[in-house]
Amino acid sequence: MKHVILGAGPAGVIAAETLRKQAPHDEIVLIGDEREPPYSRMAIPYLLTGQIGEPGTYLRKTADHFQRLDIQLRQQRAKRLDAASRRLTLDDDSVTGFDTLLIATGSSPVRPPIPGMNLPGVHACWTLNDARAIERLATKGARVLQMGAGFIGCIIMEALAMRGVQLTVVEMGDRMVPRMMGPTAGGMIKRWVESKGVTVFTGTRVEAIESGTPLKVRLSNGQHLSVDLVISATGVKPNIGFLENSGVTCLQGVLTDEHMRTNVPGIYAAGDCAEALDLATGRTIVSAIQPNAADQAYVAAMNMAGKAAVLKGVTQINVLDTLGLVSTSFGDWQGVPGGDRVELTDETLWKHLSLQFDGDRLVGCNSIGWTDHVGVMRGLVEGRVRLGAWKDRLMREPTRLMEAYLACAQSQHQWQAARPKAAA
Ligand SMILES: Cc1cc2nc3c(=O)[nH]c(=O)nc-3n(C[C@H](O)[C@H](O)[C@H](O)COP(=O)(O)OP(=O)(O)OC[C@H]3O[C@@H](n4cnc5c(N)ncnc54)[C@H](O)[C@@H]3O)c2cc1C
Repeated sequence: MKHVILGAGPAGVIAAETLRKQAPHDEIVLIGDEREPPYSRMAIPYLLTGQIGEPGTYLRKTADHFQRLDIQLRQQRAKRLDAASRRLTLDDDSVTGFDTLLIATGSSPVRPPIPGMNLPGVHACWTLNDARAIERLATKGARVLQMGAGFIGCIIMEALAMRGVQLTVVEMGDRMVPRMMGPTAGGMIKRWVESKGVTVFTGTRVEAIESGTPLKVRLSNGQHLSVDLVISATGVKPNIGFLENSGVTCLQGVLTDEHMRTNVPGIYAAGDCAEALDLATGRTIVSAIQPNAADQAYVAAMNMAGKAAVLKGVTQINVLDTLGLVSTSFGDWQGVPGGDRVELTDETLWKHLSLQFDGDRLVGCNSIGWTDHVGVMRGLVEGRVRLGAWKDRLMREPTRLMEAYLACAQSQHQWQAARPKAAA
């Protein structure tokens, strides 16, 4: 069997290694288009703060790792796929055939259609190459404007603040982290980072960037800023362009079932480029975080090796440390139609909790400052635990989450564990 894996990020690497373990004699080809050893984007903030050097970002630390596993690592870019004839065309026009193919091409930053986005001094923060440019320009005291205050934007912001730059963040949503946090929580995060010396404009767009040293940035609120560096963190989209007319079905990402199979037999997808089926909710979701990439890659590779494996769920969790303020977002944090919600806020103590219920199940939540509850919130939301009478108690006293978990989740786990035995 010949297995081809497209994309040498975390998903591609985990899939290649899993395949090697499960299929010791098969041919495995791992194709990635970046001129770096496979690395972790998650490590880029640590590189920017000087906690690690570039080798610290590498996913595997020994130079001959892939060779030793007999995994062929190639630096090339796929430009076309013909699923029916199982032919993959690469950027040098060579054609590779395969028995199974994993699409693990990740996602790329969205480039907003703003005049000046191509100027020198305007960068995304997505690749090692971006990080090198940012390291050169984001020196102590440099004026940096960051566009976007989403999950990844806030992670980058923290690294920039630690570099001692003069930071301005411009977010077009009405609050910070608008796709992860409700208005109260987003407002609290804004006030927190402002208290740490970051200037934040929400509900504001960058309208144009003019060339020069410094760059001149025009904002929709009428302000003009002079900056040394603009960082664009305005969201990402799956790298699926090369799949046009390939026969592989894509919606927002490459559509997969619970085995990470696409509509074409033998072709799989995993990671940021995949729109995976969340068995818990029955919905397909692109949830571009690394734990999902790892889980999906493992499941895909097992199936590519002929061993049945099922993806149980797509994790929708974000835990964010914004300059010391820890916030979380789980599941349907915005709530569901007909569901109940309860919110508790203490702005002076920087604490906030918002719980969303569907019937007697906790289906989503937002929190600020409740670090000790993170595991419990995850357990209740992901476990779709029936709370029974505890739902009303939580509506009155939301901070009793731990007691609710101990009372409901554990007994349900015991019951589930006991069930197969009883059936036998
Ligand atoms: C600064 C930063 C911080 C982050 N922090 C976190 C965090 O704290 N927690 C978290 O869970 N996630 C975080 N992420 C997101 C996380 O990095 C991604 O979810 C993860 O990288 C997804 O892995 P992947 O293998 O699916 O995709 P990628 O890591 O993007 O790898 C895909 C690879 O495929 C290559 N490729 C694309 N198209 C082709 C083609 N046609 N042919 C060949 N190769 C191709 C790409 O260039 C890339 O090298 C962060 C991301 C960034 C940028």
